[in-house]
Amino acid sequence: MRKPLIAGNWKMNKTNREAVALIGELAKVVKDAACDVVVCPVSICLSDVLKAAAGTNIKVGGQNMYHKDSGAYTGEVSPVMLKELGAEYVILGHSERRQYFKETDGDINLKTKAAMAHGLKPIVCVGETLEEREAGTTYKVIEEQLSGSLNELDPSKLELLVIAYEPVWAIGTGKTATSQDANEVIGFIRKKLAEILGAKAAEETRILYGGSVKGSNATELMNMPEIDGALVGGASLDAVEFGSIVNY
Ligand code: PEP
Repeated sequence: MRKPLIAGNWKMNKTNREAVALIGELAKVVKDAACDVVVCPVSICLSDVLKAAAGTNIKVGGQNMYHKDSGAYTGEVSPVMLKELGAEYVILGHSERRQYFKETDGDINLKTKAAMAHGLKPIVCVGETLEEREAGTTYKVIEEQLSGSLNELDPSKLELLVIAYEPVWAIGTGKTATSQDANEVIGFIRKKLAEILGAKAAEETRILYGGSVKGSNATELMNMPEIDGALVGGASLDAVEFGSIVNY
């Protein structure tokens, strides 16, 4: 049985003080959640956010990491550092990382393996652009992203893996994929996971939908059989709105 997961991607928003204050507000509204609740602040806020979230049901994740443990990689954070602080999750391969920082499926594969080796739960993002959707290549693009990002994962660590299907055209645009569309693509992803990782992993891996999820559309999305949760950007910055998604 896959436990639903709602994760907030705060992106480059909230100062440390604001991030800690948001945890205080959020803790009150999500305390009875039936799903796993995760927030991913910027890395310099992780330490204080983790302290603020201690004793609550809010788990914390990074938004990115490098695949090495340490070394001369200016500006990066490592899985060892995330793990030592107490982070449980890390978002990898978000479309903004792919688009603005030129991350490739090969990079995401290295990061995914490193995260899992350190016991972090990677939320690996895949999704097509508007041009790719209009060209009818959605499934081809996603298949390539999955096979490139999930190559040669440690079979003993697969229970850590989370996938997020995030159509790029739906991120931050107010346009949401219809629940049927999202369910269909996620069903396709599960089929591909069975080919890449085996039937058991495919059955057990949580696959989230992301792209303009808000309180008003969360229930419909979450009621779809293949959708195991949501990765939420803009709406995760407001405690009441994020609370209404978590308590869908
Ligand atoms: C995201 O950035 O992962 C996301 C889904 O953003 P939004 O909810 O704002 O579309």
